[in-house]
Amino acid sequence: MAEYVWKQTPMRQLTKEERLKEFSEVLLGYSYEQALAEADRCLQCQHPFCQDGCPAHNPIKEYIRLFREGDIEGAIRIDRESNVLMACTGRVCDWEHQCEGACVMGVRGEPVRIGAIERFLADYQHFHPELEIMELPPLKDEKVAVIGAGPAGLACAQGVRLAGYQAEIFDAWYLPGGVMSYGIPQFVLQQDVIDREVDILKKMGIKFHHGVVIGKDMTIDDLFAKGFKAVFVGVGANKAKTMGIEGEDLEGVYTAKDFLMFATQEVLTSKYNLPTVDGFKVGKKVAVIGAGNTAMDAARTAIRMGAEEVKIVYRRSKEQSPSREIEIEHTEHEGVKFEYLVNPLRILGDENGRVKGMESIRMKLGSPDRSGRPRPEPVEGSEFIMDVDQVVFAVGYDPETLIAQTTPGLEVNSWNGIVVDNDTYMTSREGVFAGGDSVTGANTVVHAVAAGRDAAQAIINYLED
Ligand code: SF4
Repeated sequence: MAEYVWKQTPMRQLTKEERLKEFSEVLLGYSYEQALAEADRCLQCQHPFCQDGCPAHNPIKEYIRLFREGDIEGAIRIDRESNVLMACTGRVCDWEHQCEGACVMGVRGEPVRIGAIERFLADYQHFHPELEIMELPPLKDEKVAVIGAGPAGLACAQGVRLAGYQAEIFDAWYLPGGVMSYGIPQFVLQQDVIDREVDILKKMGIKFHHGVVIGKDMTIDDLFAKGFKAVFVGVGANKAKTMGIEGEDLEGVYTAKDFLMFATQEVLTSKYNLPTVDGFKVGKKVAVIGAGNTAMDAARTAIRMGAEEVKIVYRRSKEQSPSREIEIEHTEHEGVKFEYLVNPLRILGDENGRVKGMESIRMKLGSPDRSGRPRPEPVEGSEFIMDVDQVVFAVGYDPETLIAQTTPGLEVNSWNGIVVDNDTYMTSREGVFAGGDSVTGANTVVHAVAAGRDAAQAIINYLED
C-alpha cells in the first residue's frame, strides 16, 4: 500500500523582524526538492476534486503529474495555457477555500499545497528563459482591443493571441496588472512578478498602451474606427465604497484603493519613475474599516509605512471575517490590533479639518441575515470614541461607470455591472465583450483570469463565425 504523507512540506518565510523592515515578499516559495516532495503527496485522484474547487478549473492533477515525471516544460505549458497568471495566483489565490480546500488529502491530513507548486513552476520558467513553453500560430489580420491590463484583460489577450489574433491592451494606470498592481501590496505580490507574466505576453507580440483612459482619451467606438474587430472590457470594479457616515470628507480619510495605490506608488516611485502623490502620509493611529483581504493589506501597509498603532475595525466577529486565514495570521503577527464587533458611527475632525477620532459603537450578533450569517446589532449605549488620526475604508468596490457612460447602447445593471450573455460574453453592443469584476462585481484574481480566458474563446468564435 502506498505511503501517504499527511503533512505539507513547509515553506520558507521571512521572520516578523525581517518583514516589517521593508516591503519584501513574506512567503519565499519552494526549492525544487521541496516542490517535488509536495507534488509527490498528490494521489492523482481519478476525479480530481482540486480542479472542481479551482474557479478556473486549471489542470492541476495533470501539471503535478508532468512535473513529477520530469516534464517540467509540459507542466508549465498546460497550466500557463489555462492560467496566464500562474506566478500571481500561486501567490495570492484563496487556495484554502478553492483548490486546496477541495483536495482529498485534506480529509484526513493536510491538502496538497497546490498554490506553492504552481508558484514554483512559474518561477522556474522565469529563471529558465531558455525553455520554449508556448508555440504561437502566425498572426492573422484581425485585431482585438482589450481594455484593462488586469487579470481578465491579460487572460483574454493571451487567449486570442494563442488563436493567432493580434491583441492590444489599453490601460489607465502606469503599470500593468490592474488591481494586482495598485491594490495588492508589494509584500504579498511584487510588481516584478507581474512584470514577468507581462513580459511573456509581450514576447508573444501583445502590445500594451498605458496611461490611456478609455471613455476619456478615446472611446470604444474610436477603437472600432481604428480597425479593431472586437473589444473586450476587463476594467475591474475599482470604484471604492465608503459607509456614507459623517466626516468622510475630512483630511486623513482614504478608501483602501487610494491608500494602497498611493503607498504602492511611493514604494515603486524610483524603480518605475512614477510621479509621487502630493500630501500622502500615513497617520500615527490608523483605523482600517472592514476585515477582508484588502483591509488586511491596508493595515499591514500602514504598519510598514511607520504607523504607531493600526486597528482593524469590523462590525462582525472574527469567525465571520471574509479574509483568508493566512492573511489574518500575518496581520496579527505584525502587530495590528483587531476591534471585532465594532461599527463606526462618525469621523471626528479638528479645527483644521483633519481626522482626530472616530465615534463607534459596540455590536452583538443577532439572528441570521440574508447571507445566513448572524446579523450584527448595535449594543445600546455602548458608543465610544476611538483615538485615531487616519481612517481607511476597505468595505468593497463597485464597477466604474465611465465606459458605460461613453458607450451608447452598453447595458449595465442596477449596481453598474456590465450585462453580458452568459454563454457568449457579448454585451448589448455587437462585438463588445466583457468579463471579470466589471461584470460580476469584485471577486478573486483567478475568477477574473477564468472569465478573460473564456471570453477570449467566445471572441474567437465570434470572429470565426
Ligand atoms: Fe492530487 Fe489533491 Fe487533486 Fe487529488 S484532489 S489530484 S490529491 S491535488
